[in-house]
Amino acid sequence: MGPKAPSCYEGVIRKSVNVYDLCYKQKKTFNSLTERATYRATKELKFEAAHRLLGKGVGHCGYIHGHSFKIEVTVATQELDETGFSLEFGKLKGPLQDWIDQKWDHSLILCEKDPYVFQMKKLQNRASGCRDFFTRLFLVPFNPTAENLGRYFWEIVEELLSNSKDNKRVWVQQIKFFETATSSITITKDTFRTLVTWKRNR
Ligand SMILES: [Zn+2]
Repeated sequence: MGPKAPSCYEGVIRKSVNVYDLCYKQKKTFNSLTERATYRATKELKFEAAHRLLGKGVGHCGYIHGHSFKIEVTVATQELDETGFSLEFGKLKGPLQDWIDQKWDHSLILCEKDPYVFQMKKLQNRASGCRDFFTRLFLVPFNPTAENLGRYFWEIVEELLSNSKDNKRVWVQQIKFFETATSSITITKDTFRTLVTWKRNR
């Protein structure tokens, strides 16, 4: 009589052990890969706002005009959280979109030194009906170019992260600030030394 053929039951057991071995080996390889990897997570935010630029050579940008702005915020990490996320997108989008909705969306963003601000304050004194308008006037201590607004927003993202428990393992990698669908400014940390610092107005 030849050797006993394995029963179906034995076959299932053997197969599942093999699958377990395979998963274990893959997990080991995967863990060693994650130790070397940098993960970048990007979230897109949108808002509508108006601004105007000061200075020579700004051309039509010296008139008050509006844009559909878009911001791509990229954060990075080399250490995933317990779920396997670099950063849960909701943690990034929720507070940042709230900030945008309250401060920038459908607002007029002007430099605090812009003569229009003085004119508008005079207007406000004359007509109390203008008060609602002023809740949507956002003054900044710099020329509100895409570069400066993007740099400003970087601070907002950093503050959000600094208040979160993820701040030890996640950092802001890049901000891409779109003024139009075809024009954007990309900001990384190495560009900071060329930009002046300013006090934030919230
Ligand atoms: Zn513009």
